[in-house]
Amino acid sequence: MKEILLANETFGMAARQFDRTAEFLGLDEAVRERCKWPKRMLSFSMPVSMDDGRTEVFFGHRVQHHLSRGPVKGGIRYSPHVELGEVAALAMWMNWKCALMRLPYGGAKGGIACNPREMSTGEKERLTRRFAQEMLPFIGEDIDIPAPDMGTDAQTMAWIVDTASTQAGRFTPGIVTGKPLELQGSEGRTQATGHGVAFTATRALQRLGIDCTDASAVIQGFGNVGSYAAETLMFDGVKVKGVSDISGAIWSDNGLDICQLREYVARTGGVLDFPNSEPIDAQELMLQKVDILAPCAMERVIDEEVAKKLQCRVLAEGANGPTTPEADAIIEERGDIFLVPDVMCNAGGVTVSYFEWVQNLQRFSWTEREVLSKLETQLATTFDRLVSFAETRKCSHRIAALALGIKEVADVKKTRGLYP
Ligand code: GLU
Repeated sequence: MKEILLANETFGMAARQFDRTAEFLGLDEAVRERCKWPKRMLSFSMPVSMDDGRTEVFFGHRVQHHLSRGPVKGGIRYSPHVELGEVAALAMWMNWKCALMRLPYGGAKGGIACNPREMSTGEKERLTRRFAQEMLPFIGEDIDIPAPDMGTDAQTMAWIVDTASTQAGRFTPGIVTGKPLELQGSEGRTQATGHGVAFTATRALQRLGIDCTDASAVIQGFGNVGSYAAETLMFDGVKVKGVSDISGAIWSDNGLDICQLREYVARTGGVLDFPNSEPIDAQELMLQKVDILAPCAMERVIDEEVAKKLQCRVLAEGANGPTTPEADAIIEERGDIFLVPDVMCNAGGVTVSYFEWVQNLQRFSWTEREVLSKLETQLATTFDRLVSFAETRKCSHRIAALALGIKEVADVKKTRGLYP
């Protein structure tokens, strides 16, 4: 099984990051092994009736990294690239993220290999309900609480709640987070991840003594994370000069109007040809001289070659795993880029998911103001803890973030001991 996981490039990357951090922490071998491998990996085949009358069989996975610190938490991704190893890597990163943020959760991730852009709403609903049905024995408010991720949204969560509630014979909103408000979702959840990316990126600017109103940014990816990150940065006074998505990349020296861009993308399906912008090569976009570069799409987009040519001051990782370990080494050696590592930068999403879960368990609801101010307090505390750890221990921000997370988990494992 280890070999199967390690054959996947993304898992290999997560494993290498883990090994390096475990070495840095001096973790003993037994705890190291217990921390590294996932607890449960579930794979399902799911036949779905398609609109044209065919039956298509999809493959989906749910990986629960650890159940030692509480129920597991993490999104569900719909993408053609989904593989068990990738899902396991993302579950491992969720684990360190939740521990770093001191949320009472282990990490999990789920995914289905499919192309949601080419599926009708009905097809997506049938696939989601089937997936929910398959996962039901293994998920729940005190075992595993899924949420949206790439290619899924609040509607996907609504179908899961409905499937689970119908089976249970009662309304069970606490089974997922990132739900629509009318199903006891939380105010602020939709924008939380992007808001957190902008919040941590501007906190990094502060550390560098750069005023937001003098700063510029490039955002790679304009989905839920990238679009809200761009919008919040613009509201903070940062000029968002470039944005890319699958349609292409655009640039404006004067800064793009992100509110108008959001409307344009909702209408046309992509950022390309947005009025008052010029097209730019998507790869070139990442290499522009700006203060903030926020990759908010896929894993492993910043490799060795890209890392050498980066001209940003702050690298704010909105996506999970956008920077390869080889690129990390170059960034560390260069020493002129302030890295806000993924498990810190995009932790706003799971933090507000935690708030949503708490509200569901308490049958209570908080205002958007309450949610976002609690979020900012939690992000600021962890950000400052991470930066001072890196300063005192003389390590990179990547190692600091992972070390803080991994140490929390390792301590719990040690204290609980081994059963039987
Ligand atoms: N999918 C998001 C992430 O990668 C959020 C997970 C959650 O809210 O549970 O952090």
